[in-house]
Amino acid sequence: MAEKEKLRQYSCVFCVAHCSLFAKVEKGMIMELKGDNITGFPSHYCPKHKGSLLAIGVGGVLRNKNRLKYPLIRKGKRGENKWEHASWDEALGMVAEKLLEFKEKYGPESVALLLNEPKGLEFAVAQRFATAFGTPNVFSPGNYCGVPTLSAFQYTFGSQLIHARTPIYHYAPRVVILWGTNLLHTGGSFNKLRRRDLHFAMDRGAKVVVIDPMNIDLDVTELSPDPTAPPPRVLKRASDADYWLKPRPGSDGILAMGMIKVIVEEELYDRDYTEKWTLGFDKLQKHVKSFTLDDVEKLTWVSVKQIQDVAGLYAKNKPGIIAWGNGLEQTSTAFQTCRAIAILRGITGNVNTPDGGEVENEPAPTMRPGRFMLGGELKERLMEFPRSPERTIGGGFKIALGSAYVPTQMLVNSVLEGKPYPVKAVIAVLTNPLASYPDTERVREAFMKLDFVVVADVFHTPTTAFADVVLPAATFLEHDDIGYWPAWFGDVRAYPKLLDPPGEARPDTEIINELAKRVGLEKFFFKNESEILDYWLKPANLTYKEFAESVGAIYARSLYNPFKVIGYKTPSGKVEIYSQQLEEMGLSPIPRFEEFVESLTPFEPTGEYPLLMTNGKEELYILTGFRNLTKLNIQVRDPIARLSPETARKLELKDGDWIYIETKKGRVRQKLLIDPQVDPRVVLASFGWWEEFDLNLITDSNPPYDPATGSPHLKGIPCKVYKA
Ligand code: SF4
Repeated sequence: MAEKEKLRQYSCVFCVAHCSLFAKVEKGMIMELKGDNITGFPSHYCPKHKGSLLAIGVGGVLRNKNRLKYPLIRKGKRGENKWEHASWDEALGMVAEKLLEFKEKYGPESVALLLNEPKGLEFAVAQRFATAFGTPNVFSPGNYCGVPTLSAFQYTFGSQLIHARTPIYHYAPRVVILWGTNLLHTGGSFNKLRRRDLHFAMDRGAKVVVIDPMNIDLDVTELSPDPTAPPPRVLKRASDADYWLKPRPGSDGILAMGMIKVIVEEELYDRDYTEKWTLGFDKLQKHVKSFTLDDVEKLTWVSVKQIQDVAGLYAKNKPGIIAWGNGLEQTSTAFQTCRAIAILRGITGNVNTPDGGEVENEPAPTMRPGRFMLGGELKERLMEFPRSPERTIGGGFKIALGSAYVPTQMLVNSVLEGKPYPVKAVIAVLTNPLASYPDTERVREAFMKLDFVVVADVFHTPTTAFADVVLPAATFLEHDDIGYWPAWFGDVRAYPKLLDPPGEARPDTEIINELAKRVGLEKFFFKNESEILDYWLKPANLTYKEFAESVGAIYARSLYNPFKVIGYKTPSGKVEIYSQQLEEMGLSPIPRFEEFVESLTPFEPTGEYPLLMTNGKEELYILTGFRNLTKLNIQVRDPIARLSPETARKLELKDGDWIYIETKKGRVRQKLLIDPQVDPRVVLASFGWWEEFDLNLITDSNPPYDPATGSPHLKGIPCKVYKA
């Protein structure tokens, strides 16, 4: 009991898993962290592969002597990394003066916000700042992360909150397809499926299918409580799954269309359900006649037999779950790829039905992020400064515009080419464009050309080097905050302060709030951070103190009904295979096979660039973050690129060689690992490293882009490999 009293429930947001933990804090220090198996929130707790939170968070970040502790103002030339300390008053005063100057001279749209995946409320507060200031230009990686998927849910099922039914051990999903998602190395899939769920599903006999060019780690073992039962199944990697499909990188939309064709033409769908609950099935039936499964095999490298087997397995075994991740969102057909897979779920009756595997949820009754960023008293600002296609950079990407972000590569085009007009100043909050945006050389050029750059972060990164003002941010452990992310999970959690921030570091929410007051926007902002937290909880009739001390979390509510189809909030009230709304936006109302084929044409291998490069997330690091942590560097020193033995032999390369991967954009150095499970036509490279190892040195910020979300094509880029 005494021990229990010392433990406080907490959440970690160092990576997107947002694990729930118990922390023991003594004398201002975190002494112990434990995974949470009580509340039902995910708790990966840095599985052994990820190092450990104690290494990343406590040892690596919180006590790191290189933390940014004081505001810095550039002393030397931009990019020289020479700084002088400033007071907060001086730094924020300078930023406010500059912002007002640009607003006056070029209009508020000349100032852009650069944001990243939300940790606490900082993303929403920064979006609110943009709306109040009058700029529609908020650049964020929504197009690589979430928006194609969630918009596909929205336009197919009428809701973004479509989750695998939980708790998974109360029913038995008979098939689980992991498609472009790595449950172990990332935060899990978009439909809330976690590694723990896969473990339970296997225990109930589910077949597991992995669709991924990489032999991803799964590390799940079926439970076997009965000593007389056969030994438990162990899935160490994708190659141990019941089916492992290795499509050509970037061809997933075509593969999904092939599976749809099998289900439609072999009549594996539920006829009554399809007639009553879907719209546009007749159009789909007609469309799938326009291509053959041999076409699909040729384009995806997946055999007709595998396509038939997996489509049949999924259609004939309900409940079924398809969990997918960012892997499907990084092509110029990202949105339609996600739509095609959503339709697969829809025509098999797997969403919102009594016997399906996935169901809509209702979010917790607190402030919704969209309202905080764009609604209420901000509406008058939007009348004056609309986020319209005409005012917004990249405003032609209708799904992006509706999701309140601008695709990141459009910043570079705006600054370097003045298209449609030049951004002059940026405020970057916890984001690292010099490693995370495609085409690093062009990003560097753009940052050199910008008139004014402000960066708020925890450490120096490749991006802070290009700043005029650097503001030291506190981590989530160092201030009171609220976690609503991932927003489509619908849960809201308290992230109470455990420790003091180092030096003069401040919460990013507070930094933006203060800046807003200095540029005359106090009417739309708050006295202090604690008022923001209370405002967020007002719809739930709670103060932050009450929430943090006695509630802790408010959960989304599953709308599952075991007795009937609960319906769909689309305009037709049905699963929309055909979407009138998309047609009115000038987008394909049903996914079209030829659109997927056309998107691959510019990325065919050539004599000069015969291989296709793709990449995946690393287990230890967190995207481009924390690459400076010695504790992590000791465990993984080098960026690894994988080739098949056959290709390595042909290129006279051996394991451990340093190699160059070259595309038409340039070359990057990584270390070779020969992996017999890699397709001989593919290079699997590492993403997120800085400087000479940065994979974005060889990606492209130029078109083609996904017409809906603005996603550039980052999977399956023609390249060559040679010894460095
Ligand atoms: S770093 Fe990621 S996996 Fe580790 S505890 Fe934090 S949220 Fe969980």
